Amino acid sequence: MGGLYDHHGIYVGDDMVIHLQGKGKKLSAPSPCNKCGNKRFINGEIEKVCIDCFLEGETVQIYDYGIPFIEFANRKLGTCSSIPSKPPHEVIATAVNYLEKGFAPYDMISNNCEHFAVYCKTGTAVSHQVVLHTCNIL
Ligand SMILES: [Zn+2]
Repeated sequence: MGGLYDHHGIYVGDDMVIHLQGKGKKLSAPSPCNKCGNKRFINGEIEKVCIDCFLEGETVQIYDYGIPFIEFANRKLGTCSSIPSKPPHEVIATAVNYLEKGFAPYDMISNNCEHFAVYCKTGTAVSHQVVLHTCNIL
C-alpha cells in the first residue's frame, strides 16, 4: 500500500498463504477469485488466503534467509535476513499455530507483517523495514 511497505506472508502449500493483516493491508475482493472463490480463514489479524488473493495481481518476491552479512549490508532492506530459516515443516507449523491461536495485534512498529513472517521463519521477530524506519528517526 503506497509502495512504502511490501507485504509478507508464509506460503504453506496447496496454493495457500498465511499472513498478518493489518491496518495497511486489508485484502480486497473486487471480483470472485477463480482459484478459491474468496474463501478466507481468519483469526483476528491472522488470515489464510490463496496465493492469488494474497498477491492481488502483484508479483512474488522471495525473501532470502541466512545470507552472509557482507551481502546483507548491500541488499534492499525488507527483502532478506542474515538469520537462517528453520526447516519448512517447522515454519509452516508455526504459521498454522498462529492461525489457530492468534498473534498479538498488528502494530506498525512492534508487530507488523514482516515480523510475523520472519518470526515464523526464524523464531526471531526482526523487521528490517522498521529497523530502517527507526534509524531514520534517530
Ligand atoms: Zn483466492
